[in-house]
Amino acid sequence: MTDARHLVVDPTRPDPRAIARAAAAIRRGELVAFPTETVYGLGADALDPAAVARIYEAKGRPSYNPLIVHVLDAVAARGLVTAWPPAAQRLADACWPGPVTLVLPKTPAVPDAVTAGLPAVAIRVPAHPVALALLRAAERPIAAPSANRSNELSPTTAAHVASALGDRVALILDAGPTDVGIESTVVDLTGPRPRLLRPGLVSRDELVRMIGDVAEVEATSGDASRSSPGQLERHYAPQAELRLVDDPDAGRAALGEARLAGQRAALLTYEPEIGGDPDVALLPAEPAGYARRLYAALHDLDARDYNVVYVVRPPADAAWEGIHDRLRRAAHR
Ligand code: AMP
Ligand code: MG
Repeated sequence: MTDARHLVVDPTRPDPRAIARAAAAIRRGELVAFPTETVYGLGADALDPAAVARIYEAKGRPSYNPLIVHVLDAVAARGLVTAWPPAAQRLADACWPGPVTLVLPKTPAVPDAVTAGLPAVAIRVPAHPVALALLRAAERPIAAPSANRSNELSPTTAAHVASALGDRVALILDAGPTDVGIESTVVDLTGPRPRLLRPGLVSRDELVRMIGDVAEVEATSGDASRSSPGQLERHYAPQAELRLVDDPDAGRAALGEARLAGQRAALLTYEPEIGGDPDVALLPAEPAGYARRLYAALHDLDARDYNVVYVVRPPADAAWEGIHDRLRRAAHR
C-alpha cells in the first residue's frame, strides 16, 4: 500500500517523525492504528469522549463493549483508578509492559464512553516499542481495541488493518507482524476475588502463581458478558464457518469428505502434520508460535474464500487456554 496514511516504522526504533505525526493525530482527536505486542490497536485519546466515539463508529462496535486503555507505565495507570490493591501492584510488577489487562474502579477523568458506562476501566501497559513511543509522545492514555470491524478477526499485520479500516483512520503505523498474536489476558480486580475475564497467552495458572487466587468466569450470555463483553460467545470470527475437530485424523477425514461433497474446505492443523496440500494450513505445535500465527492463517484462509475450515483442536493443557478460547468463539454459531 502506498497510501500517505500508511507509515512503515522500524519495530524497535521507530522514526521519531512518524511517531510525532501519529501523536499529533491522537491529540487532535483522530484515530491512529498502531502495533501492540498482541494485535494492532485502533487508538484514540482516552480522555476525549468525541475521539472515543469515533472508535465505536469506525469499528461498528456496540456501545456496551468497553475499551482497553493503554498507558505508559504503572504510575499512569494508578492515576486513572480509585483503588490499587496489592494484586494490581504484583501483576503490574510481573507482567507490565505486557499482555495482561487489569480492570479497576475508574476515576471521573475516564469518560463513560471508554468503559461503556461501567464503573471500572480496563488498563494495560503494552510491550511494543512503537506503542510505548506513541504513548510517550501523545502524553495521554490511548484507548485502543483491536483494529478490526466489530466481531471480525483481529489484525496482526498492518495489511489486515488497512483492508478492514484503511479509509477510517488518520494513520496506520506499520511495524510488521505482531508478536503475541492473540488479545491480552483480562483480570478483574474490582471484587474481593480476582477474576479472569478473558484468557490470553498469560494463563490462569501463571496468574495464580503471581497473586494466589484467580476465579474463572464462565463464558455465558448472562452476568459475565455484561461485566466483560469480550466474553460474548461469538467473537473473533472469520467469514468461513469454523468447525473444531478433535485430532488430525478426524481433520483429514472431514476435509476429504467435504471436498468430495464439492465444498471449498480447508484444514488448519499443527506440526508435525504434513503441509504441502494447498488446502492445509500448518501452525507451530507450541502455544506462543501457534498464537502468533493463528489470526494471520485465518485471514489468509478467508481471503481464499473457503466456506468451511476444519480446525484441529490443540492440546488440552493450560498453556493453550487462550487459544482454545479464541477458537471456541470463532467457531460459535
Ligand atoms: P478488545 O479491545 O477488542 O480486545 O476488547 C476489549 C475487551 O476487554 C472487552 O471486550 C472486555 O472483555 C474487556 N474490557 C474492557 N473494558 C472492560 C471493563 N471496564 N470491564 C470489564 N472488561 C473490560
Ligand atoms: Mg477486539
